[in-house]
Amino acid sequence: MNLSVLRVLRRRDERMGKRPVIDRTRCMHCGACVGSCPENAATLEEVWVEFGEGCTGCGICSRACPAGAISMEGSG
Ligand code: SF4
Ligand code: SF4
Repeated sequence: MNLSVLRVLRRRDERMGKRPVIDRTRCMHCGACVGSCPENAATLEEVWVEFGEGCTGCGICSRACPAGAISMEGSG
């Protein structure tokens, strides 16, 4: 199995698993999660961070958040 097929399968598996969820009371709107996302799936909105369709559920943004505001939730 080549690498591109493995990547597609990984993304499918991740999509079926966890998703990042932000605790709005802890978020400082610093943008670290946005800069950390390898899929450019997180965007810093004027008053909020959005996680879009490109999110694979990898959890990098959660680990990058200095406020501990992002938890990974779901079945994965
Ligand atoms: S979980 Fe991964 S892919 Fe999804 S927004 Fe965070 S860093 Fe990006
Ligand atoms: S890294 Fe954490 S504190 Fe910074 S914008 Fe993202 S969720 Fe908010």
